[in-house]
Amino acid sequence: MSSSDDELTGEEYLFKVVVIGDSAVGKSNLLSRYARNEFSPHSKATIGVEFQTQSMEIDGKEVKAQIWDTAGQERFRAVTSAYYRGAVGALVVYDITRRTTFDSVNRWLDELKTHSDSTVAKILVGNKWDLEHIRAISPEEGKSIAESEGLFFIETSALDSTNVQEAFELVIREIYNNVRRKNL
Ligand code: GDP
Ligand code: MG
Repeated sequence: MSSSDDELTGEEYLFKVVVIGDSAVGKSNLLSRYARNEFSPHSKATIGVEFQTQSMEIDGKEVKAQIWDTAGQERFRAVTSAYYRGAVGALVVYDITRRTTFDSVNRWLDELKTHSDSTVAKILVGNKWDLEHIRAISPEEGKSIAESEGLFFIETSALDSTNVQEAFELVIREIYNNVRRKNL
C-alpha cells in the first residue's frame, strides 16, 4: 500500500465529501435528512457540528463518507480552503425556486476547482422539488449545465425526502469507482 492510499484501511473506506451552494438552498437539511432523517423548517446559521459520518455498503465493503456542512460560512462568502481540503466528492446545491442560487453554481464550481483536485466526484443538486408550483429553474436547465461541466444531476426535496439518499449515494459510489480505477 502506497502513501497515497491513506483513505484505505484494509477493506474499509473513508471519504470526505463537501456540500456547497448559496445560503438557504437546503444544504444543512439535505445532510440532516440523509444522516439522521431529520428536517427543520427553520434555517440555522450554525449547526454546531462540522460533519456527519454515514456508511453504506458497496461490493460487500463498508464505505464511510464524512460529509461536511458549511455551518453558515457561505453567508459571508468565506468558505475557507480548510473546508475543501482532502475532499474527494462534492454536492453543489441550488434552490429550484430561486434563480440567483442557480446563477451562483458556476462560482461554486470555480471555487471547488481552485481548492481541490480535478478528479473530485461532483453532483449538481436542484433542491426543494416539493415546491414545483413555484419552480424557477426547469430540470432541463439543470441537466444542461451539469452535462457541460461533467457533473451528475438530480432534483431533491429535503422536506419530503425525495432523492436525498440517491444524491449522496451517487457521489459516494462515484468516489469509490474513482479510487478503484486509480488502484488498478
Ligand atoms: P442552508 O443554508 O443551505 O444550509 O439551508 P437550510 O438547510 O438551513 O434550509 C434553508 C431553508 O429552506 C429552511 O427554512 C429549510 O426548512 C428550507 N428547506 C430546505 N430544504 C427544503 C426542501 O427540500 N423543501 C422546502 N420546501 N424547504 C426546504
Ligand atoms: Mg446551513
